[in-house]
Amino acid sequence: MAVSADDPTAQWKAKVCLVGGTGVGKTSLIRRYVQDAFDDQYLITLGTKVVKRVVELEFPQVGSVRVDLTLWDTMGEEFLRPTLFDTVLGGAKAVVVVVDVTDPRTLAPMNAWIDLSRQVSAETPIQILLNKSDLPPSKDVLVEALEVGRQKNAPCYMTSAKTGNNVVSAFEDLARRIAAKTYGERDDGLDPVGKQIISHAASRERTLQDFLILTRLPTTILQAHLEMLVGRGRLRIVSLDIGPDGCPVIKYTAGTAPTPSATTPLTPGPMQRP
Ligand code: GDP
Ligand code: MG
Repeated sequence: MAVSADDPTAQWKAKVCLVGGTGVGKTSLIRRYVQDAFDDQYLITLGTKVVKRVVELEFPQVGSVRVDLTLWDTMGEEFLRPTLFDTVLGGAKAVVVVVDVTDPRTLAPMNAWIDLSRQVSAETPIQILLNKSDLPPSKDVLVEALEVGRQKNAPCYMTSAKTGNNVVSAFEDLARRIAAKTYGERDDGLDPVGKQIISHAASRERTLQDFLILTRLPTTILQAHLEMLVGRGRLRIVSLDIGPDGCPVIKYTAGTAPTPSATTPLTPGPMQRP
């Protein structure tokens, strides 16, 4: 796991796609997030707006890691042009699926985009943003998004592009997941840490906080292991909630069978047309 700070991979360009229904707040979230750094300079590419922001992360055992997030602001009409899915989602290091937390009609595009993302790549980190959290939420949206998030290993965040609440945390956690995944992939199979995590999860359901205490691993390293173990079917997410800070609280248990996620059957999602 030890990687030197001058490892060239300690600087990454990571394409991140923001997808979801029309009017959920994708453009507003990007504006809110990049405003300070880039003054809203958008480039038009293939009907998609692209904007960048660099995230500096302190990565335990590695040092400072720079992730150049290239945020792709998709527009709803991708649903009318299936040939664009691959262009938009291809090569994405992560997908941010945005839902309007007040509007259950935005659940269908959420599901369709999650399925498309999984078809393009079974292991890309997905994050669900329940945006417009400054307004009263729809219970249906909360219940379904959390359930889908649990099934698809996609943590849910409450965000508000209007107030800025939780926007930076959501994107920085994503950058951390991208970095952690890259380091985590260097561990093949069940190393002692993986075995330790599974044995803790076998005795009872555990949260990230529990594992932090039990393993004493740095958060990023632990998250990389947890995602890898979930991806391989060795750990299962039993519940996903949103904590008081709007960030996800995930409970894990030991998986029943070691089924690699690459072979998980993909359920074709309903194609929503606006
Ligand atoms: P997009 O189609 O997903 O890019 O959505 P936009 O960013 O264009 O936002 C659609 C509408 O929702 C606009 O009127 C925004 O001002 C509004 N909006 C976006 N984010 C929020 C939010 O967090 N809270 C509230 N109250 N309104 C928002
Ligand atoms: Mg937009």
